[in-house]
This record gives sequence, C-alpha cells and structure tokens, in this order.
Amino acid sequence: MNEPVRPLPRADEFDTREFWEGTKQHEFRYQQCNQCDEVVFYPRRHCPGCTAGELIWKVSTGKGTVYTYSVVRQSYHPFFRNRVPYAVAWIDLEEGPRILSNVVGVDDPLNDVSIGMAVQVEWEEHENLNIPLFKPLAS
Ligand SMILES: [Zn+2]
Repeated sequence: MNEPVRPLPRADEFDTREFWEGTKQHEFRYQQCNQCDEVVFYPRRHCPGCTAGELIWKVSTGKGTVYTYSVVRQSYHPFFRNRVPYAVAWIDLEEGPRILSNVVGVDDPLNDVSIGMAVQVEWEEHENLNIPLFKPLAS
C-alpha cells in the first residue's frame, strides 16, 4: 500500500504561482504594496489596503512567532491520522505575513508549543513545490 501523502495545492494558479515557485528554492515569498506599504499574504493581484495593483514580491527570513495554535488529537484523513497529536498554528513572520501551518520538531506538541514562541521555517519537500512548516528557532 502506498504511503498516504499530504493533500497539496495546485502550483500553477495565476495568483499563487510565484509563491510556490519560491518554495522550490526554500524562499518564503510574500507581497508588499508599492503604494501604501501594506504587507500582503496570501498572494493576491490587488492590495487589500488601498486596492492598488502594484504588489512587489519580497522574501521573508522565515523567522517568526506563534500567534496562536491548537493541537489536533484525532484525524480521519489517511495522511494526518498517523501524525496525531500535531500542532496547527498561525505563524506571524517577522516581516508581517501571517500563515496557517504546523509546528513540527517538538517532542510533545501539547506541552512544547506556546503562544509567542520563536519559530523558523522548515521545508517539507515535494515534487513540484515545498510546504512551509515551522520548528522552534534554534538559539
Ligand atoms: Zn496598498
């Protein structure tokens, strides 16, 4: 039986293609408005702050903090059910993007993840894109 795989996004959508392209080089790309400086993530065509269409791609350091999180203890999905318990967290990157991801690389997500903890991106490798996950920041 094949190993169940994580459900993956399409890498060829017009708005998000640039983001997924960056993940292949382990770059976490986000957008910033050239008119009002608003940081924009997830990728879009227009700035949600001022509606201008001049968004510029930038690369994050991949460092951030846990804004909030939850620990999943039960899942019926073939990929995720073997991973419980695992932490699902909103991560605030230091440049401003906020992304929903997993905190990995902890022994016990029930006790080893906390709001405000420093994390850094870690890439889960796939054929056409890589998935940004987050691990505790090495000090
Ligand atoms: Zn703007």
